[in-house]
Amino acid sequence: MTENLLSKSRLSRSGALALTAALIALFVASCSSTDQGEPNYLIGSGIGDITGPVVDVAFTGYVRPTHIANGVHTRLKARAFIMGALDGTRRLVFVVTDLLNVSHEMRLSVVDNLRAKFGDLYTLDNVVLSATHTHSSPGGYAHEASFRQGYFDAVVEGITEAIESAHESLQPGRILVAQGPVQDAAANRSLVAYQQNPEPERARYEHDTDREMTLLRFEGNDGPIGVLTWFAVHPTSLTYDNSLVSADHKGFAALAMEGQLRRRIETGEPFVAAFGQSNCGDVTGNLNLDNTGPGVDDYDSARIIGQRQLDAAMRLFDTASSRLEGDLDYRLSAVDFTDLEVAGELTGAGPQTTCFPAYGYAFAGGSTEDGGGHPLFMEGMLERDEGIDALVQVVIQPPPVTEELRACHAPKPILYRKEQQDPLPIGVAKVGWLAMVFIPSEATTMSGRRMRDTVKERLGEEVRYVVIAGYSNDYSGYIATPEEYAMQQYEGGHTLFGPWTLPAFQQELGRLAEALATGQPGPASEDQGDLRGMVESEPLGNDYDEPPADGSFGDVVTAPSASYVSGETVSVAFWTGHPDNAFQRGASYVEIQRLAGSDWVTIMTEGDWPTQVRWTQASRVIPPYDPLDPFATPPPPINEAFTVSIAWQVPDDAEPGTHRVIFHGSQKQEPGSQAVTFAAQSPSFEITRPAGAVP
Ligand SMILES: [Zn+2]
Repeated sequence: MTENLLSKSRLSRSGALALTAALIALFVASCSSTDQGEPNYLIGSGIGDITGPVVDVAFTGYVRPTHIANGVHTRLKARAFIMGALDGTRRLVFVVTDLLNVSHEMRLSVVDNLRAKFGDLYTLDNVVLSATHTHSSPGGYAHEASFRQGYFDAVVEGITEAIESAHESLQPGRILVAQGPVQDAAANRSLVAYQQNPEPERARYEHDTDREMTLLRFEGNDGPIGVLTWFAVHPTSLTYDNSLVSADHKGFAALAMEGQLRRRIETGEPFVAAFGQSNCGDVTGNLNLDNTGPGVDDYDSARIIGQRQLDAAMRLFDTASSRLEGDLDYRLSAVDFTDLEVAGELTGAGPQTTCFPAYGYAFAGGSTEDGGGHPLFMEGMLERDEGIDALVQVVIQPPPVTEELRACHAPKPILYRKEQQDPLPIGVAKVGWLAMVFIPSEATTMSGRRMRDTVKERLGEEVRYVVIAGYSNDYSGYIATPEEYAMQQYEGGHTLFGPWTLPAFQQELGRLAEALATGQPGPASEDQGDLRGMVESEPLGNDYDEPPADGSFGDVVTAPSASYVSGETVSVAFWTGHPDNAFQRGASYVEIQRLAGSDWVTIMTEGDWPTQVRWTQASRVIPPYDPLDPFATPPPPINEAFTVSIAWQVPDDAEPGTHRVIFHGSQKQEPGSQAVTFAAQSPSFEITRPAGAVP
């Protein structure tokens, strides 16, 4: 030990000099890596409303045909970020939408809009649309069954608006990055499958889900303009018992962070906070693992899981000091996964091929921990059942399945195969030492880790963080590891291209990463098709609105009480028509107003978390989901007048004073006519401080 010290001290003169120099360099580096440095990227952020119809449209996330919307909990948003080289030559658009998933046609139309305005700046090569995967966004925007053109158009317009305002806000700036844990917000819902992954691999990770949130803080000329995070947890806190359109826990976090930072920063610029989705395939926020928890009801659970993500994001936002530096580049491509050869190094079982996509029995079983599916099916089903196959044949008449296809998907028993499969978009982008992986899929925890490893290996040392941006640019089901696939939990049953789906994605992402690393062009995209104009649109709303029997449209049905204290819920109801006859993207149905001097000031709308708006008709009752008749369809819309009930839970920090509720409704007098809009107003009421509260 002494000798060691001595020899060290002998070295000390030159050693100390070197050390001092190194320390100075480190100090300088750490200074320049806080917000002191020169701008090195173009950055921009923007937001747009993508709320569409809110009544008589089906939610599709839980695959229950009678899960139908009848109101609004929060509005749905698109939040856009542009990251570019300072000289503007290369730029990447990344959008987070409050949707279950995004469609290829949606992206085509957004890019068409951008091209009309900005020429070739934004194309399929650099525009990425992703979804938070909220199960409380209604279906109908995608070109499939129950397509609604008006809804599709609203989503496309809202996303375009978000990107345009991000473009208008473009400025030289810096991007700070931070990574840290989110506490108690996620649990693995298919542990039995996860545990099939090799022990040494599992030993590399402390947890059975990824607990880290990755956060980007966009620093502009006058301060931060936005924040983008990724964290893996299914937005299923709002279960199939919820019938209100909502952005679920990711929406809670986004709205709350935007509210807090807009108050704090006061730059006048809209601050944009997006909570993006990652590899949450086997990750649920229903922490009791029985479709409940951790709150007392769905909304409470969504708030708690949202708050835990928000807490992590605020901490990371306030402490982010590492600054991204280096090239910005990307490779996006579309790959045919239906019959793809996968190299032996990636399968660990020699060369293999993917299969034409098919669903397994376990798909129909659903995830037990997130509410389950059809009672004939369950997770872990590995045996083919001729009775089930005969039933499926009668009920859905799927295309025939060959023995070869069955063998390809084994051990997954095939429920039915897809009719058709277009090539799928994938991508890899690099912003300095951060890489992003874009997949149109729900990757399980371990699948996400393997894809990150593959990409990191190809991109080399200079890349420190890799994030999986799931649900990007299209939708193609799940990605389980081959080991997990063998167990046929829900995620394995919904892994559509067979056991080698993950190695196939690793291989193709690896190609893109390789091209990125070597500065080569990526492989050419295969044609992804275009269903625009090919799918018949179903109508929105009803034929016309019959006037209420005992009153007029806009009349108060339920008046508020005279006064409320925080924590209590204000309830007001009016007569109105079907909201989807005249839905206006970006407009509000409800304004909660406070009297300030002689002016009424809007303090909240149905876009905010504490409000709930529900439209009901006395004669129209949606039958509950009947597991014995899973294909039961809800009755068609009727023309009876609606009661719209507005509930506002008065927040703890509500200012005392005189308040009222304004409702913007509509009435369609006859079939084919334009709905006429009106504004109704409640009697005023007082918000008072609870007895004993400090004024
Ligand atoms: Zn999912």
